[in-house]
Amino acid sequence: MDYNVLANLLFPDVTDTPESLEARFPSRNLPEGAVVTRMAPSPTGFVHLGNLVQGLTSERLAHQSGGVLFLRVEDTDAKREVPGAVEVLINTLKHYGIHFDEGATIDGDNGIYGPYRQRQRAAIYHVYAKKLVEQGCAYPCFCTEEELAAMREQQESGKETTGYYGKYAMWRDRSIEEIQEQLDAGHSWVLRFRSTGSIENQFKFDDLVKGKLTITENNIDHVLLKSDGIPTYHFAHAVDDHLMRTTHVVRGDEWLPTLPFHIQLFKALGFKLPKYVHIGPLMKMDGTSKRKLSKRKDPELALTYYKAEGFPVEAVYEYIMTLLNSNYEDWRRANPTAPATDFKFSPKKLNPAGNLFDYAKLCDVSKNEIAKMDAEKAYTLLSEYAQEFDPEFGALLAENPDYAKSILAIGRGGKKPRKDLATWKEAKPYMGFFYDCYLDKPKFDEKLSKELILDVLQKYLDSYDFADDSNTWFNKVKQITEAVGFTTDMKAYKADPSAFPGTVADVSTVIRLAITGKHNSPDLYTVTRILGYDRTVARVKQAMASL
Ligand code: GLU
Repeated sequence: MDYNVLANLLFPDVTDTPESLEARFPSRNLPEGAVVTRMAPSPTGFVHLGNLVQGLTSERLAHQSGGVLFLRVEDTDAKREVPGAVEVLINTLKHYGIHFDEGATIDGDNGIYGPYRQRQRAAIYHVYAKKLVEQGCAYPCFCTEEELAAMREQQESGKETTGYYGKYAMWRDRSIEEIQEQLDAGHSWVLRFRSTGSIENQFKFDDLVKGKLTITENNIDHVLLKSDGIPTYHFAHAVDDHLMRTTHVVRGDEWLPTLPFHIQLFKALGFKLPKYVHIGPLMKMDGTSKRKLSKRKDPELALTYYKAEGFPVEAVYEYIMTLLNSNYEDWRRANPTAPATDFKFSPKKLNPAGNLFDYAKLCDVSKNEIAKMDAEKAYTLLSEYAQEFDPEFGALLAENPDYAKSILAIGRGGKKPRKDLATWKEAKPYMGFFYDCYLDKPKFDEKLSKELILDVLQKYLDSYDFADDSNTWFNKVKQITEAVGFTTDMKAYKADPSAFPGTVADVSTVIRLAITGKHNSPDLYTVTRILGYDRTVARVKQAMASL
């Protein structure tokens, strides 16, 4: 058969040539070793942790090498597309510090290698589809859904591998007349790849994460163009990553099974194969076994979850880096204040089997990150969070920024900063008592009599002097302790608790509960300094009145 005739029959409108496209999208002028990577998500509206893992890997590889990171929107599946999804995607990734040098933006395209939305690239794919037909590497298939289903059934019942291959590839070698007849009748068709591979053959392949792989050749005549002329992922991947001059394809390892086909396709098209970085799945412990994080079961898969919980971006970023590169934590210990971008990221350090997501570890990392911030930064980030997720609290914070900052300054800045908060969501339970509207009614220990509590609090009021420094203040608490017959000698108490009605810790708790409504609070003396004399006294009186 004359494949040129077939090519013209199938693609009468294609006038562009591969050569002109090569010229339109020239090689990038980048220094030796610069990596060009991309994110190529489908706009489903759901941005997940896996996107971030892939995004950070791509971003680091590109930017640490002086290369380029671009965004391509893989919108070939119109059914899955959600309006506004591209906007959500770009904003979410930006929130996590992933900035694209090039590609799809909310307002259109930025860069000369576009369009960056696949549906706008139909004419480009058709140029290469026509080329493959001319080479005898692709052909139209007019199989109906029913025929394909019947074929599958036959293969299944015969325990054969399913798919369109070998003797099952029924449109592979049809005559031009038969094809013409179908076209004239207006039957729809897909374009298939004519695979010359055999499952008897294996070859070696080097993946930057998985290492050396032994791969079996592909023998399936996969679809390149769907009946609407829109490409499948596979064909678009080859054409786009070639023309956009991608050097490294970072993607989930669910694409490994079709990698043999991608390799064939690059070869047939005469394209240089990029390097592949196949990332394993994110998993979690479920009881005693591991399983993949699932959209349905695990809210923590969605990136929106981390924002709504109030994990600072820095914390999520740090955590993902510890997940991705096993030596990141050691590096961080040695370089506590260096920007994360100073770390030399290596795809070889990724765990080929995927990563175990550990919520408790994320919280630890986050506590460290929040503890490292100064009060100013903590205030800014907490305010942003509260304004979006707890506007009432947000308004209180905004009303008196200096007051809020003095609260957030407690325990910050020293060698061992306090690690009270893992998320901004925890800030209200932690510091809400500083605002009268969130002050809980104290729940005193039932073992203590009302008289004793009143006695302690009255003595506190009687001796309270705002001029006292923290030592003097605490000495007075000790004096109250002794005055009510409790002990300040914790050693003696531990040796024989029954010998004492109570201790200085009990007395402190009574005062703490009266002032903060809580059993635990930051250093009580500091709390009273922030509340001020009048409010401290008023709270103690209020607690007494509530008894
Ligand atoms: N659209 C594909 C996906 O979301 C992209 C995979 C790739 O990065 O090549 O899985």
